[in-house]
Amino acid sequence: MEKEIIITAAISGSRPMKTMNPAVPYSPKEITDSAVACFKAGAAIAHIHVRDPISGVPEFKIEYFKEILEGIREKCDMIVNLTTSGSFLEGPGVGQQRLQPVFLKPDMCSLDLGSMNFFDRAFINPPDWAEKAAKCMMENDVKPEVEVFDVGHIYQAHDLIQKGLIKPPPYFQICLGVKWGIQASAENFLFMKSKLPPGAEWSVLGVGKDQLPMITLAMLLGGHVRVGFEDNIYLKQGVLASSNAQMVERAADLAERLGRRVVTPGEARRILGIKTPT
Ligand code: ZN
Repeated sequence: MEKEIIITAAISGSRPMKTMNPAVPYSPKEITDSAVACFKAGAAIAHIHVRDPISGVPEFKIEYFKEILEGIREKCDMIVNLTTSGSFLEGPGVGQQRLQPVFLKPDMCSLDLGSMNFFDRAFINPPDWAEKAAKCMMENDVKPEVEVFDVGHIYQAHDLIQKGLIKPPPYFQICLGVKWGIQASAENFLFMKSKLPPGAEWSVLGVGKDQLPMITLAMLLGGHVRVGFEDNIYLKQGVLASSNAQMVERAADLAERLGRRVVTPGEARRILGIKTPT
């Protein structure tokens, strides 16, 4: 039987701007519409960040997250994954602020482990925050998407699993090619994959020009994949992608050609152990 593959669409992230690619969605409505279009193209998961609807600057307003979560749920059964990264936030209450999306009870939230230099800023995830975040997700029945940008982050995930703070199966997003995380290469990919705990479900993202090669490798090696504007705004060198759905469509087509079966959100819920929303 063909092995199943889950496609995640990372709709906007917090970095790409309309000045870089006019198709990058900003407003809750644009983000919702883009997610639903990705669902129609084959994505089972939508990974969501929010922006100011006019300027596009990264925001963390809970009402925007709520509007998008409800908007997507009205239209389809896609798995909604809200970010808790908020790497641009500052101040003493940031740790708690970053957990606010969890209380909306989406299907999934990203869980970042390890502190690192991330492009032009320090992305701070203290160990006690990671434990608190994992616990908060467990209490709210939200599946953590464990984002790992370097190998040490995987070791920390082992620790959280041993402490019973992540329910099986653990779900990893292997993030390759983020400045200054681990670089995108086949060797690094295989090394990261070899460190995952047994029984883990895993997905891969590659940044920029590394998106297509890294997801292709993941398809060949039995993993899940992530595409979308958060990671890459180009379809190929010098050609901007016209939408997130266009990148999902290409990933779905490639996966099928490589003998993988693209799954529905319902099947992805079964694979990852996520309940259907009531
Ligand atoms: Zn993200």
